[in-house]
Amino acid sequence: MTVGLTLLRIPAPPLFSFTLLAVNAEIIAVGSELLTPFRADTNSLYLTEQLNLLGVEVVHKSVVGDDLKRLSATAEHALFRSAVVIFTGGLGPTEDDLTREAVAAALGVGLHRDEAVLSGLAQRFAARGWKMSPNNAKQADVLEGATVLPNPNGTAPGQWICGTFLGGQHIVILLPGPPHELRALFESECRDRLRTQLPPAFIATRVLKVAMLGESFVDARVSPIYKRYSEVRTTILAGAGEIELHFKSRAPSMDAAQARVDEVADAVEEELDDAVYSRNGEALEQIVGYWLQMRNATLAVAESCTGGLLAERITQVGGSSRYFLGGAVVYSNALKTELAGVPTDMIHRHGAVSREVAAALAEGIRYRCEATHGIGITGIAGPSGGTPQKPVGLVFHALASDGGTEVVERNFVGDRKRIRRFASTLALDMLRKELM
Ligand code: ATP
Ligand code: MG
Repeated sequence: MTVGLTLLRIPAPPLFSFTLLAVNAEIIAVGSELLTPFRADTNSLYLTEQLNLLGVEVVHKSVVGDDLKRLSATAEHALFRSAVVIFTGGLGPTEDDLTREAVAAALGVGLHRDEAVLSGLAQRFAARGWKMSPNNAKQADVLEGATVLPNPNGTAPGQWICGTFLGGQHIVILLPGPPHELRALFESECRDRLRTQLPPAFIATRVLKVAMLGESFVDARVSPIYKRYSEVRTTILAGAGEIELHFKSRAPSMDAAQARVDEVADAVEEELDDAVYSRNGEALEQIVGYWLQMRNATLAVAESCTGGLLAERITQVGGSSRYFLGGAVVYSNALKTELAGVPTDMIHRHGAVSREVAAALAEGIRYRCEATHGIGITGIAGPSGGTPQKPVGLVFHALASDGGTEVVERNFVGDRKRIRRFASTLALDMLRKELM
């Protein structure tokens, strides 16, 4: 049980013999409640962000219920894979708080009741006029060789242990589950320790965003490029009408890491040309706002099937009053005529969902609001209301400006929410391309 104890008691060396840049981390969130539909593990998101800032990549995450065998098995697997292993939760005083025991078993070290922690706990209770119940004492159980991380916000202290376990060099950290306690402890006790114990590394990221192209189409175009760069990890994330390309690289200096991601991102951007609307992660509505200001332009919208979604997205951007005048949600035929000036006989002849009505909406709202640019959207968001000639997903998007009126017809696939999102994105992208 106590093999290697003398070695472990030596104050931690300033640097492990971790091979440079090979320091990966893994997070294990402990708690049966995290396996229900009612609670999500958010601690690992915070920890991942913090670790990335230290140049440490998170390569594996697990959520494990309060079960000793499963927990220690997970801990063992983690030690085979990752240099840094962080546990969150399961440090409470109750029967089902088993992280300490499970980690002790996996590391092959004992637990001892730490008198200083115990008296600290007793004082904490006494200060509040409470009597400490006997089971609280187990929160003073400390892994042999571990450093206790004081937790000013709760009763469960964290623990930090480093050494050779299961044949490899490791840092193992135990942190409490309550998010505010975890954050405070990470900041006060873990960040600097990690920084001094790990080789310096930096992670740089870039996000390119592309509108209205298919995921497989984008990947086919750009994968020959990003595959040439083995030191940059590229991930493609697809949403409704928008694709994000994430580039990430780790290097011994931030400049080197940034140079690597920039090289790939720039090459990919060149390939996709003006389909890339954002070079640094900005939202489409932000970019459109930027261009409207650049061109001294103003916008008004007349929305049927998007029901105000377009206006909502545009006005999410602070300062949008400088270029967004307003508009109308014109769901009924009567309001299309009354508020956007669409001729009644045009609606009768072509139907409310038509190329002609979309154009009339854009032109009418532009004229009535005295904007430089007008957008009209009309379509069938479903799930009902489709016909063989005009199926669910059919949307007409129109953009009116000094240069004339452009109409784009699309058949979107998806549910009501996705179709509306697609339509608003396409309209924003039409405007972006017009202003560029
Ligand atoms: P305590 O001393 O408070 O019992 P603990 O370390 O045992 O500390 P838990 O009992 O596991 O922590 O969790 C306490 C609270 O923190 C619960 O409300 C739980 O839902 C929340 N929590 C635990 N783990 C996470 C997590 N990974 N992400 C977000 N919340 C969490
Ligand atoms: Mg718990």
